[in-house]
Amino acid sequence: MLRRGFKTWCENAAANYRRDLGLARGAPLDPVLLARHLGILVWSPQDIPGIGKEVLELLTVDDADSWDAVTIEAEGMVLVILNSISDDGRRNNSLAHELAHIILEHEPAHVFHTPDGHMMMNEYNEVHEEEADCLAGALLLPRDALLQAIRQGMSDMALARHFGVSAALLRMRRNKTGIDKQLSHSRV
Ligand SMILES: [Zn+2]
Repeated sequence: MLRRGFKTWCENAAANYRRDLGLARGAPLDPVLLARHLGILVWSPQDIPGIGKEVLELLTVDDADSWDAVTIEAEGMVLVILNSISDDGRRNNSLAHELAHIILEHEPAHVFHTPDGHMMMNEYNEVHEEEADCLAGALLLPRDALLQAIRQGMSDMALARHFGVSAALLRMRRNKTGIDKQLSHSRV
């Protein structure tokens, strides 16, 4: 359950970041540009210095579907390693989600190393995940821009393409922002 006023805070934050980046309210937001603006490094697995061929193959081929992004904070730097083979919508959503965690100052370490050198995921924090999804959604698909585009008759497919999001994220935003409900009422 999101705390009261959180959704509105996300919409305002998203509008402010668009303004900082010199983007119009209805323009797509490339999360890579937002990361740069926030001073956050974004790497693909290929960029990891000294990464072995086997590990790289595991991350980009064999297990490519099992992970999206990993955020690491070390020596005052924040680094997001982003799965490089996923499609645009999934990649944008993954990066926006990680940036949202960072913006919201959630516990940055999503991974830690076990003594035998394996990486383990932190315990899943349901509230933090919901908050990050909410902010990521607002960053990629601001409510006002989405409503305006729908009213102008843009199809879901064109909308998803314009904002660089998956069809699933678009559906989720139409639902969670109450836009679908609002539009169904206004048609009555
Ligand atoms: Zn998360």
